[in-house]
Amino acid sequence: MIRKLRDDYKIADESVLTAMDSVPRDFFVPTALKSQAYRDNALPISANQTISQPYIVAKMTELLELKPSDRVLEVGAGSGYQSAVLAKLVSAVFAIERIPALAAEANERLRALGIANVSVNCADGTNGWEMYAPFDKILVAAGGPEVPRPLLDQLKVGGKLVIPIGADQKSQSLVRVTRTPNRFVNEEFGPCSFVPLIGAHGWK
Ligand code: SAH
Repeated sequence: MIRKLRDDYKIADESVLTAMDSVPRDFFVPTALKSQAYRDNALPISANQTISQPYIVAKMTELLELKPSDRVLEVGAGSGYQSAVLAKLVSAVFAIERIPALAAEANERLRALGIANVSVNCADGTNGWEMYAPFDKILVAAGGPEVPRPLLDQLKVGGKLVIPIGADQKSQSLVRVTRTPNRFVNEEFGPCSFVPLIGAHGWK
């Protein structure tokens, strides 16, 4: 999986590849699918949701240009896999998941792996997490119609946010937003397909 990310997908940030190499993806997928855990596919998890494709996890993580001191907000924790990868690279991860059973399972898996710098909360992540704001980086792992305003407000100046944005619920474009002292700069990184971001500042 790591070789494919480096050679075929041109993921160049070795710290991202090292982090992904150190997280057992099979631990985050349902028992029946464990044999497929290191293929380059999204896989179903509970509650009709998915664990993202390894390539998209690598790409989003690389686009954040993480630093060890960063505090990162993650919206859509799902299985907890992306949270675990982030946890290897930064000082603290604040992960929000709207489905209670998924939030509980993600939390259990992270504890079982001895990952102690992730806080998991069950809530609508489109509101951000005011108590711990502002964040150096924000990763949204579900597709919304636009960037939720509270997330822009909770991003530090100089910070970066990565999110799939699309006018319909099935396909999106991967967008990176960088907050400069006086504006938000958007860059696009191609098509992608995520489950919908559902909430007050997402799909209803
Ligand atoms: N990063 C996850 C991907 C999970 S799929 C992983 O590695 O497994 C996206 C997740 O976003 C789903 O679990 C879905 O329930 C969640 N989600 C959708 N809208 C949300 C919202 N407003 N707040 C928090 N989580 C949300």
